[in-house]
Formats: sequence, structure tokens, C-alpha cells
Amino acid sequence: MIGILGGTFDPIHYGHLRTALDVQQHLGLEQIRLIPLRDPPHRTQPTLSAAQRLALLHAAVDDNPLFHIDTRELERSGKSYTLETLQSLRRELPEETFCLLLGSDAFNGFHTWHRPEAILGLAHLVVMQRPGEPEPARYHEQLTHDPEALKRQAAGLVLALPVTQLEISATRIRELLRHGQSPRYLLPDAVLELIRRRRLYPSG
Ligand code: ATP
Repeated sequence: MIGILGGTFDPIHYGHLRTALDVQQHLGLEQIRLIPLRDPPHRTQPTLSAAQRLALLHAAVDDNPLFHIDTRELERSGKSYTLETLQSLRRELPEETFCLLLGSDAFNGFHTWHRPEAILGLAHLVVMQRPGEPEPARYHEQLTHDPEALKRQAAGLVLALPVTQLEISATRIRELLRHGQSPRYLLPDAVLELIRRRRLYPSG
């Protein structure tokens, strides 16, 4: 089973990395694919270019073989639709089971994505919940709390998984940098070092 975490990663931070590792350990995933978006359909454009965000991703995970940076959305023109990404992954890895990792905020908007039912035909969803958070409000019929269930069918389940949440967002990190303050300990040192060296997110 492969976990897929899509995002703008503007920049990548410990909120992404730690929760992805939590999920990996709960489910025994063989790999986590970080898939940076080129042109997000649901939000404003990232601050940094694709090449800059990619360089930060490499600084964050190149020393950990569990993480794999997948650039297919950066190489594709047009909006970055998850369905297209999963279709191309399925063509490459026909026997693989894919688990799409979503924060509860992302899951709450999932029904508005491009062809959500088709996405569920190709992957399981893993909703990374805060402990004590209410049940996902949609997709009751597909809902499970049993990680083992994901091994028994190829796609189509929604696993609600309580994971340790870190109150870290890329927005907050960008704000700190803009105000000349340090975001240290919210993201890997190697990422911060590269941000400083290349003068990304300048202050002032
Ligand atoms: P921004 O603040 O710019 O909106 P972000 O920090 O939310 O960015 P994204 O790249 O948009 O980061 O997030 C990609 C995915 O990671 C989304 O599914 C999001 O829910 C999840 N995510 C982001 N931050 C956290 C966090 N602290 N804990 C758990 N999941 C997170």
C-alpha cells in the first residue's frame, strides 16, 4: 500500500511530515508519495514557483527512503486534478493499493472535488482526524475505523484515523518569515536553511 499526500508544500513542514509518518506506521504503508500541486483547483496560487517548492521538498525528505517525491502534477499542464493523478498512478502500478491522505479540513471539501466517486474507485481515503473530533459527516457507507479493512479491498473505503495533530500551517510559517521572525522547529532545519540561502519569502 502506498500513501499519497498532495499539497502545495509552500513550504513543507512538520505538520505534513509527522502526520504522514503516523499514518504510515498505523497502516504499514510501504511508501509515502508527496505530490506537489502545480495549479491547485481549490485555492489561490502558491507563493513560490514549482521549482522552489520542489527544492524545499528535496531538502526535507531526501535522507528518508520512506518518502518519495512524485512530480507528475508539476509536469502536467492545466489544473492539478487528483483523479488524473490517480489514473496515471494506476496505469503505472496496476496491482498497487493507494491511500489518499487528507486532513479533516480537506476531507470536508472532498465532495466538491472533480468526480469524487471516480477517485474512490481508484483509492481509499484516509482522513487524519484530531483525537476526539466528530465523525466524518459524509460517506457513511464507506466509513471504517479498521485499518485492516483497507487490505481486503482495492479501493473505495474511507478510514477515519486519529493521529497526533500539530498546529502548524504553511500560512503561519510564511507570516513569521514575512515579519522577520523565525519559524525554526516548525519545519526541518534543512528546509529553513535553504529558504534563508535563497532568500525565499523575503521579509518587509
Ligand atoms: P497553507 O497554510 O498554505 O494552506 P498547509 O500548511 O495547509 O498550507 P498544504 O500543502 O496545503 O499545507 O497541505 C497539504 C495537505 O496536508 C492537506 O491535506 C492538509 O490537510 C494537510 N496538512 C497540512 N498541515 C497539516 C497539519 N499540521 N497536520 C495535518 N495535516 C496537515
